[in-house]
Amino acid sequence: MQAALEMNCDAHDDPFQCPDSLIAYHEGLNQFGLIVHDGDRNVVVIRHCPWCGGALYEAA
Ligand SMILES: [Zn+2]
Repeated sequence: MQAALEMNCDAHDDPFQCPDSLIAYHEGLNQFGLIVHDGDRNVVVIRHCPWCGGALYEAA
């Protein structure tokens, strides 16, 4: 999870432009999302890690 978030690409500065980038984190919203590579800046908000299933947020 951490590795996916910290993944850097030499060819793309913007994670939304990079087909290898899977996860985006929005600091203001404190949300994680799966990047939808449809040419727009869409994400699917997720609440659990897609790799380990662990919760991404503290239980409120
Ligand atoms: Zn790239």
